[in-house]
Amino acid sequence: MELLIATRNKKKFLEIKQLLKGCKFKLLSLIDMPRLPEVNENGLTFEANAAKKARQISRLTGKLTLGEDSGLCVDALNGAPGVYSSRFAGLHKSDLDNNIKLLKELKGLPLSKRKAHYVCAIALAFKGRAIKSLEAKCNGLIGFDMKGSSGFGYDPLFIIPKYNKTFAQLGLKIKHTMSHRFKAIKKVRNYLRRAGVKNILKRF
Ligand code: IMP
Repeated sequence: MELLIATRNKKKFLEIKQLLKGCKFKLLSLIDMPRLPEVNENGLTFEANAAKKARQISRLTGKLTLGEDSGLCVDALNGAPGVYSSRFAGLHKSDLDNNIKLLKELKGLPLSKRKAHYVCAIALAFKGRAIKSLEAKCNGLIGFDMKGSSGFGYDPLFIIPKYNKTFAQLGLKIKHTMSHRFKAIKKVRNYLRRAGVKNILKRF
């Protein structure tokens, strides 16, 4: 059975692949399907964007599809960058540009005012119709400078208080025990186990 992960982000796909290890799916991603159009991520919530990716890509491919939308919400910025996390510093800017912008926006704030959380929304869809939406969070603090080289996005700035280290310093093995994506995928795995993939697809 194939499961199409509706992302072109190689690092995100790698994480999802590792988190779905042991599932009996053959995992595909949009990296292998360059001709499919970009999904316009114009939803106001992570959930809306995840559902849009899953519905649209499943309709175009006919495959069971997992849409994922994630991002960083910073308390001192009233939840920004939120759904705009990947384009915080502007369209086509890099993770580094986004991190530099975040440091600038938080300049002068003490650690106690640098609370943030990651959100991961996941939606499953088949033949253009939604099956299930799930969401999870991971709390942390935004550091004063970038540390570490693992992960992607804001990981060099995202400190896990328990370890006093960033996700980029901690590495994927530890990230995969507590991240927003780990928790959301765990919910997906539980849902699929309970409902049964064959039973779900029978409805279509
Ligand atoms: P998306 O591809 O539109 O879901 O964008 C997600 C963006 O949120 C990424 O480009 C990162 O900037 C940020 N993000 C989401 N999850 C993570 C993570 O696990 N680590 C670091 N940054 C993340």
